[in-house]
Amino acid sequence: MTTSKKSVQQLAAFGGYPLFKAPIHVGQLYMPNWNDFEDTFRGIFKRHYFTNHGPLVREMDERFAKHLGVRNAVCVTNGTVSLMVATQALNLRGEVIVPAFTFPATVQSLCWAGLTPVFCDVDPLTHNITSKLAEPLITERTSAILGTHLWGRACDPDGLQSLCDEYGLSLFFDAAHAIDCTYNGKKIGGFGRVESFSFHATKVLNGAEGGCLTTNDDALADRIRTARNFHVSETYARVPIRINGKMSEAQAAMALLGLKGLSKNIKKNKDLYRIYRQRSADWKGLRMVDTAGGEESNYQYCVFEVNPDATVLTRNQFFFILRAENVLARRYFYPGVHRMKPYDTLFPEYLTTLPVTDYLSSHLLQFPIGSGISSDQVEHLSDLISFLIKNDAEIAEQML
Ligand SMILES: *Cc1c(COP(=O)(O)O)cnc(C)c1O
Repeated sequence: MTTSKKSVQQLAAFGGYPLFKAPIHVGQLYMPNWNDFEDTFRGIFKRHYFTNHGPLVREMDERFAKHLGVRNAVCVTNGTVSLMVATQALNLRGEVIVPAFTFPATVQSLCWAGLTPVFCDVDPLTHNITSKLAEPLITERTSAILGTHLWGRACDPDGLQSLCDEYGLSLFFDAAHAIDCTYNGKKIGGFGRVESFSFHATKVLNGAEGGCLTTNDDALADRIRTARNFHVSETYARVPIRINGKMSEAQAAMALLGLKGLSKNIKKNKDLYRIYRQRSADWKGLRMVDTAGGEESNYQYCVFEVNPDATVLTRNQFFFILRAENVLARRYFYPGVHRMKPYDTLFPEYLTTLPVTDYLSSHLLQFPIGSGISSDQVEHLSDLISFLIKNDAEIAEQML
């Protein structure tokens, strides 16, 4: 049950009842059917096969590759290890150009591999790095560019590929947001030398934890298979350092069920995304970010940009007012990775060179979307936001 607001005093931030009784999270979890889950786990118990590339992991490798239309998919334990494995399979050295406007793991994986991140600013419309922004950052020490397909929108694959070809660099992508998203109609998964996915519980494909590397390069796939296994060799390929990055059968069981339910999950996202888009058409000062860019998308992220010229309420004020109403909106990615420890002290030079990253990290807000939220709830939430925008001056005054 929800009660709509009739006056500013009724907002929970000012002592009223919250609009929603229970908290609504941004990262909605996809829950597979319980009986399917039991059946799959019964198989694991029957086979006494828990890990070391068991039948379910192999099935997930095959199905995911086929699903994305890419020659090789190699599942690993999570999306962070996936990126670490990529750095070893690509034999990277020195500096890697990477956005600071991304999940911290994108950068952490480079540091675990002993590489130096070189932070690149992003385009204000796509929120992604571009070849134009990356080129001036190339030095003799650069070995690669790691782009993130943020919100599932492709990170300039053509531009970055020609730049990397010209300078002899490896291009790879953090595709954690981009399952079932396309670029020029082609599914993300086969761009650059390798792409890295995450099956974390909050992602569109829930494997509880899990990750996957995809590539059309068979020799590289062999090196990935070697790097993900600390001990026994599946291939004759060699890599500098190996790790235990194996996906377990339990994870693969979840991931297979997530893959089975993926299109249904995405359809739900798309329906909710449509409601937000319609309702936000007249939200003065709160613009819905186009995360699809005319392509197919999984619509797992519902991103809004607060325009300080059009509303007196700040992003943080929206954030705290919504939290009080039990809408747990998020501020991804705040602050940018360059402002987090240890990067702010290791590389203080970036505190002044990433204006768009800094702007976006202080003006974006993510709203709930996904399988656990109903269209009615999105309508109620939209009513609340319309109310906030209509009464922004009065609310801002009360917040002083
Ligand atoms: C979730 C995420 C990761 C990390 O993946 P895990 O599977 O949680 O380790 C990396 N990069 C991006 C962009 C992510 O969203």
